[in-house]
Amino acid sequence: MVHPEDKTRLKQALQRLSAQSAIGLEYRIIDRTGNIRWLKIRAQRNSALAKNQADRIDGVVHDISDQKRVEYHLSYEAYHDNLTALANRNSFIRQSNQLLHAFKENPSERFAVLFIDLDRFKRINDSLGHYVGDQLLQQVAKRLQQCLRPFDLIARIGGDEFAILLKNLSQPEDPIIVAKRIHSQLTEAIRIENQIFFVSVSIGIVIASFRHASAEELLRDADIAMYQAKKEGKARYQLFNESMHIDSVRRLDLERDLRIALNNQEITLHYQPIVNLETQVVTGFEALARWTHPQKGFISPADFIPIAEESGLIVELGEQILRQACHQLKQWNSCFPEVSTYTMSVNLSGKQLQSLSFIDTLDEILNANNISGHQLKLEITESLLMDNHDSILTLLNSLLKRDITLSLDDFGTGYSSLSYLHRFPLSELKIDRSFVSRIEDDIQSQEIVKTILNLANTLNMSVVAEGVETLGQLKYLKILKCNKAQGYLFYKPLSKTDVDKLLEDHANHWMSA
Ligand code: C2E
Ligand code: CA
Ligand code: CA
Repeated sequence: MVHPEDKTRLKQALQRLSAQSAIGLEYRIIDRTGNIRWLKIRAQRNSALAKNQADRIDGVVHDISDQKRVEYHLSYEAYHDNLTALANRNSFIRQSNQLLHAFKENPSERFAVLFIDLDRFKRINDSLGHYVGDQLLQQVAKRLQQCLRPFDLIARIGGDEFAILLKNLSQPEDPIIVAKRIHSQLTEAIRIENQIFFVSVSIGIVIASFRHASAEELLRDADIAMYQAKKEGKARYQLFNESMHIDSVRRLDLERDLRIALNNQEITLHYQPIVNLETQVVTGFEALARWTHPQKGFISPADFIPIAEESGLIVELGEQILRQACHQLKQWNSCFPEVSTYTMSVNLSGKQLQSLSFIDTLDEILNANNISGHQLKLEITESLLMDNHDSILTLLNSLLKRDITLSLDDFGTGYSSLSYLHRFPLSELKIDRSFVSRIEDDIQSQEIVKTILNLANTLNMSVVAEGVETLGQLKYLKILKCNKAQGYLFYKPLSKTDVDKLLEDHANHWMSA
């Protein structure tokens, strides 16, 4: 009745009994009805007291099937993911640690970790519900499994995150081959209840090395690489390299410091004058964020704004910036009468607009500073318009009702799709500095600027050229009949005190005239 797989073990144990006095063993039998039962045996040999007498073996057999079932269940639960029946994070960590250990004993046993994250899964889950989301995860799990050899391990380690252990690498390119296989395996549509889905994944890859102390470190590096892959556009893979680690540590540091800076209101504004090209007079300012870190010194907004956006801090930061800009405008309005014809342009990030309280906050700030909408311009970027059509349109229209001007920043660098412009209530385009800087010697840039100006003209929008640095550029822009410009040729971004001086000079100039 003994289970074929356990026969040898049992025989060996019984043989051992001739050399030692007691044995203990768990083994399976197959009972008459064909069910497997687990037995636990403890046996001991009492040697014959005298010659010619038989040895006596006695022992106890327990049926431990129930206990085994519970144990199995518990260990299955502990190491598997319910939804996909794949291994779970625990199991992945345990096996990675074993492999890492083996690798350090024998460096020829190379292995890699792949971190896989579904692109845009949240959107599917949110809009179509958890049932569809779950089905999708199950199907993706199956596809991923098909890309692996039997001895590789795949686990679901988080909501829409999977990890793979690729064992016995024969060449460093192996993980890349697998990553490509995964991408091609997923190009085929997934069908769920008569709906068709196309999913893609971003993959981060790390090859285990001596510098990894634990499985958690391997996963962390693969995660960092995955994040990089995502950033460079979705449906990609990325191999981890050391500079990414430094980068991500730096980012975390900066994010922490930014939180402190927000609390201490360390972020201030500079104001870059915008001039009318025909009359050369100042028509307004663009508020630009400035951060002087107490230890690290000046940090460019090009570095900290993206971090604020990713971490969500931009909502609070943006509010502080808007408040500062309006407060400053109020002061200048009251000291210099001509400022009431000026506008203040404030950069806005998409995340700010998505925040539910945005309009209320804006109204509150305008009221508190007694600023009317026509003095405020909000600069937004193309990506914001492309990402969320309908909801954004409603919001932009409610800004328009308040007489606020909407300006499209960095025009030409994003989607370069002109067709959607008329759908949004925009009244100003800002031509990106990259075109302006090449306008003197690059015919293509000239053509682009000319086209943008024509287009703006037909759509009844005004145009601001950004980053004008030379007289040559100015000349071209005038020929092309560009309305306004900003740039070092006219003014750099100025501190509040410098703007005060500028406005005083203007006032004196008008008095004497
Ligand atoms: P942007 O909105 O395109 O701002 C114009 C950038 O060009 C500013 O850089 C400005 O200092 C710089 N600039 C102006 N004239 C010239 C010129 O003649 N030559 C050159 N080489 N550069 C010129 P800055 O202040 O470093 O800001 C960089 C970017 O950071 C901004 O680009 C904007 O995208 C973002 N940013 C700055 N302040 C804020 C803010 O308050 N909120 C948000 N959401 N983003 C901001
Ligand atoms: Ca801007
Ligand atoms: Ca710009």
